[in-house]
Parts: sequence; structure tokens; C-alpha cells
Amino acid sequence: MLSHLQPEINFVLNSALWNFSIRTHYATFGQQMLSIAYEKDQLPSAKLALHYLLTTVLPYAKENAQFRLTNWSRVQKLLQLAENALVVYNLVNFFKFLRSGTRPLLVDCLLRINHRSLDGAKRRTIGYSYMTRELVWAGFLELLGFTIPFVNYHALKRKLRNLLRIEAAPQRQDERVELTADTRCAYCNERVILPHHMGCRHVFCYLCLKGNQLADAGFQCNVCDYRSETFRKVVVL
Ligand SMILES: [Zn+2]
Ligand SMILES: [Zn+2]
Repeated sequence: MLSHLQPEINFVLNSALWNFSIRTHYATFGQQMLSIAYEKDQLPSAKLALHYLLTTVLPYAKENAQFRLTNWSRVQKLLQLAENALVVYNLVNFFKFLRSGTRPLLVDCLLRINHRSLDGAKRRTIGYSYMTRELVWAGFLELLGFTIPFVNYHALKRKLRNLLRIEAAPQRQDERVELTADTRCAYCNERVILPHHMGCRHVFCYLCLKGNQLADAGFQCNVCDYRSETFRKVVVL
């Protein structure tokens, strides 16, 4: 529903995160957990604005261009080049960080800002509370890893869709299937590969239909909600 606003949603979320971490505490949430922060006097408001521009506005502009200017192959190519260059710079900066131990991020390097420890000269000890927290997290992740494969997303998605719909779609009997040169698969919206249908007039790729019916016994056509457990090949007469 909101997928066409994806870049804007990401931008708002990232801005909020930036505001509650860098702007108020001069440290990202990860840095706060490690008790380190940026040197406050190295981050005057002008530099802070630049930090925001580099870490939040620029990624938004990039995402927006990738999302909206899909027909501009030149722009996409340039973006890809810039992204690749950034990966290389980041890698170079990371090796520099391994040698020097300061400024792990490219942004830190560009803005020339350092970190300082909030604990001062206090020795860093790992207490039981830390270890317990780690154990709880590890247990939780294991539980997630074990249970997630058992969740049938296809059925959940269908049930949610049926719940959100106000009126039930009427069940139609066999209708004529429409298959033309630009018919798209009702499920993946790509050119149909091995056209098959369930009984309604919508055409699916063989794999889209078979895969969904295998995963969810009550699979319905996602355009007209026609439901059937069988499917047939589309025969061109
Ligand atoms: Zn398909
Ligand atoms: Zn249909």
C-alpha cells in the first residue's frame, strides 16, 4: 500500500534515528552501547549538518533516484558507479582504521572527527549482566531460527488479505483465459513463463502457481480471489 513511498518512509525513519543518536548524544546507538561518543568540540553545528547530509539526505537522494528514475539508464549507471566507488573507499578506509585505530567510518574521516571513551580511564570489565544479556539474545535468535521456517507466510498473507477486504469476491465458474503477447503473470507481474491457469481468466507462470499451491493449500488468485486446488495449462487455439 505504501510501497511507492518507500524512500520517504526510510528517510523519515533514518532522520529520527539520526536525531535521537548523533544530534542528541553525539554517538550512534552502537557507539552508546560501547560507551564511546564523538568529540563534541569537533562537531559544531555546521559539521553536524554536514554529517546529517552525508549519512541521511544523500542515501535518500540515491534511493529516490534508484526508485523513481528507473527509465534513465544513464543515471542508474552513474549511481552504480558511485556506489561501487564508495564500496572501494570504505574498504580502503577500513584498512586504514585497522592500522590507525581511529575513524572507522568514511564519514568520520571526511569530517575529521574522532571518538572518545565515555568511561574515561576506567578499565573495561565484562560482568555477569553482560554475559546473561548475550545468552538471552543467543537463545532468542536460536528460537527465531528454529520457528521461522515453520511459519507459512503464503497462508498468512492470504488470510490477512481476506481480513482486510470489505466484501467477499464472488466465485466465478470457468471463464475464458486471456493470453496475448503482453499478458503478465498475475502473481509475479512478469512475462508469463509456461502459462497456466486455475479456472479464472488470469494467467500464471507454472512455477508461480505450482509453488503457491504447494505452499498454501487454499491459494487464491491474487487478482480476483478465485480459489481452486487444481490448475491447467493454457492452450492457445
Ligand atoms: Zn509468475
Ligand atoms: Zn483470477
